[in-house]
Amino acid sequence: MSSLKTFFNESITTTDPDVSSIIKHEITRMSEGLELIPSENIVSLSVLQALGSVFTNKYSEGYPKKRYYGGNENADAVEQLAIDRAKKLFGVPYVNVQPYSGSPANMAVYFAVCNPGDTIMGHNLPDGGHLTHGWKVNFSAKFYKSVPYHVKSDGYLDMEEIRKLAIEHKPRLMWCGATAYTREFPFEEFAKIADEVGAYFAADVAHISGLIAGEAHKSPVPYAHIITTTTHKTLRGPRGAMIMVTEKGLKKDPELADKIDKAVFPGLQGGPHDHATAAIAVALGEASKPDFKDYAHQIVKNSRALAAAMMKKGLKLVTNGTDNHMILLDLTPYGKGKGIFLQEALDLANITLNKNTIPADPSSPFYPSGVRLGTPAVTSRGLKEKEMEFIADCIFRIVDCIKSYQLPDDKTQIKDYLAKFREEVKHNKEIAKVKGEVVEFCKGFPIYQTLKY
Ligand SMILES: *Cc1c(COP(=O)(O)O)cnc(C)c1O
Repeated sequence: MSSLKTFFNESITTTDPDVSSIIKHEITRMSEGLELIPSENIVSLSVLQALGSVFTNKYSEGYPKKRYYGGNENADAVEQLAIDRAKKLFGVPYVNVQPYSGSPANMAVYFAVCNPGDTIMGHNLPDGGHLTHGWKVNFSAKFYKSVPYHVKSDGYLDMEEIRKLAIEHKPRLMWCGATAYTREFPFEEFAKIADEVGAYFAADVAHISGLIAGEAHKSPVPYAHIITTTTHKTLRGPRGAMIMVTEKGLKKDPELADKIDKAVFPGLQGGPHDHATAAIAVALGEASKPDFKDYAHQIVKNSRALAAAMMKKGLKLVTNGTDNHMILLDLTPYGKGKGIFLQEALDLANITLNKNTIPADPSSPFYPSGVRLGTPAVTSRGLKEKEMEFIADCIFRIVDCIKSYQLPDDKTQIKDYLAKFREEVKHNKEIAKVKGEVVEFCKGFPIYQTLKY
């Protein structure tokens, strides 16, 4: 380091122009594009400030007032504040805010209530479920006996199958939650089944916790024993996660909260990320304010408006609509495996979303036949129902541009075919035109103007 003065008092703009410039480009990318990935959001400056705070320097293994290292009075204060805010916001008696992210949070739940080899049930990944709910390549299927459940051909959860499988396999743990499901989760029906077979019932609300906090989605609190959530999706905080135990959970197992604490630390993790904890506290503070309710409801209003506008143009949606922040576009009317074409063509038009499987996908998870999109980030940016028509129109025009491309049946031809596709769309005039319109549109909804890099 050249001098301590530089080290502590100068900003990254002068000390590291290389990284600074990459961050600047990322701000530009976010500012000039429409972010429709439903698991992403745009956090407040306050969340960013807490995340970039000196708490990143601290080690605080343990829990508030029970730490292994000294100097933890402020780390204690900020973690306790995050816990108290989460308890109040969600109405639960116990919260752990230390999981590094959603997947480690779910791992801690397994570690707390299951033994290796126990049977678990979760939403099948190609049907919209998460990796950590028992997908074959994930730890959750390697260490436990995974019994996946499915959605029906209409896209809705198959509750009859779920009950039948639960009675047959008597799982120790049942998950409800998904990364690609556009309808309200029937927590009450799940709880009945879990209670009937004596299973722990965990609701993974990673995607919808902000909607729950803002009362735009039913809460699982009266029904589940355990609730996990990320903090960076609709909750609009930093990357991180929380595990909650409900009154019902404590009634089933009075030691459940203690088991979760021990599973997170020292079971799976070392020192908590106190800078993330501070930012989670800020996000929970924001989510407790009345205008967050408006935000959560606006997310759903926008999602419904976008779904309606897309269907009006003749696009096909899984379940023909949405109850939440998310939409699944079924591209099978144009052929199979079309998701990658639309995702990449939209990327060139500054619209970001992700390819995704649809129920009974005729293609594979790597080349799925749909795309997933959602409204949390654009709603944070101030877009309303009216603007959803512009987005639907852009998507429709790009769908038209990729319609004629067909994923080869012969796997060995896919690479060359995609290379040719990429070369052609780069020069597509309509895609370039949509991009220009998107950049212009985004100027009306600026973000992070005060950030200097
Ligand atoms: C996003 C998500 C997770 C995992 O979160 P990461 O932070 O990416 O590990 C877990 N469960 C569900 C349902 C999710 O949508």
